[in-house]
Amino acid sequence: MKALLLCGPGERFQLEEIPDPVAGPGEAVVKVITCGSGLTIQHVKAGRTKVDYPRVIGHEITGEVEEVGDDVTSLKVGDPVTCYFYLTCGTCKWCRRNRETLCEKFTGYVGRGVNGGYAEYIKLPASTFLKLPSSLDYKNHPAEVGVISDAIATPVKVIRRARVLPTDTVAVFGAGGGLGIHMIMLARWAHARVIAIESKPEKFDACKEAGADEVIDGTRNDLPEALIELSSGGIDVGIDFVSSEQTLEHAAAALGKGGRLVTLGGSGKPFKADPRAMLEKELEFIGSRYATKQEVTESLELVARGDVWPLVTDIRPMEGAEALHEELEKGSIIGRAAIRITA
Ligand SMILES: [Zn+2]
Repeated sequence: MKALLLCGPGERFQLEEIPDPVAGPGEAVVKVITCGSGLTIQHVKAGRTKVDYPRVIGHEITGEVEEVGDDVTSLKVGDPVTCYFYLTCGTCKWCRRNRETLCEKFTGYVGRGVNGGYAEYIKLPASTFLKLPSSLDYKNHPAEVGVISDAIATPVKVIRRARVLPTDTVAVFGAGGGLGIHMIMLARWAHARVIAIESKPEKFDACKEAGADEVIDGTRNDLPEALIELSSGGIDVGIDFVSSEQTLEHAAAALGKGGRLVTLGGSGKPFKADPRAMLEKELEFIGSRYATKQEVTESLELVARGDVWPLVTDIRPMEGAEALHEELEKGSIIGRAAIRITA
């Protein structure tokens, strides 16, 4: 099969022929139609996330089951599927509680610990593949369908974790990024008022089109004050995709009574928050990682019934992957991008 191989940190993709994967017990092989291209996998390509080489990256796939292991009953050849990003055990306390992102026997990520979707075929444990609803038009929109498993599911989980209500004002930090744009869409879907915070002016329009009521320049020093003024006393929910020391402090300072702050990653550096404000306003600080399998399935259903539609603005063939990832590194992609593998 053809595969885009990464042979070292920061190296160019090598489009090579490698042996087709073969499904062993409990596994399935899927023919990949498209695979989404987001910053998470660009971090691997650039060497900021460590993996063993050679490696095939990518996890936001649309594909069809090509082969299943002898004992696999959950899938059959021809089933249209996407995949779950985390490799989880399915049996530990956290998996049983529908919180797989906390799995005690977590064995890594698709496209990092094992080969991912930037190849004609992908082999994974059968339970990692999730069937597409029959009403989802994956044949005409494979790139959009493929990115649902992360770009829509991650915001869906945030809406749930932060208990976003229609009366809430939600501020999204890093709103113009691939996840941020979809977070705006989902916050609107939840009928909240949405303030987008973005530092690249060329992305302001995309934030508005995704549903933001207001867009604020993220480079402003008076960001907390501006947010407090816009929300008449403080935001209800701050969702921080940047999660630098500064954005977290700005988000925390802008929270109103009962406010919730959600972090989704970032620098890992500590930030300062005022414990008196936490007490007096009964603030909540929440971490939210990816999504559960249930949330991915629900996200597929939300798109299938037309509630939200993923924004994929750049789709290229495998030969164009290197140039596409240069755009990802620059941060110039609006929404998501994808690689057409066999479509
Ligand atoms: Zn588990």
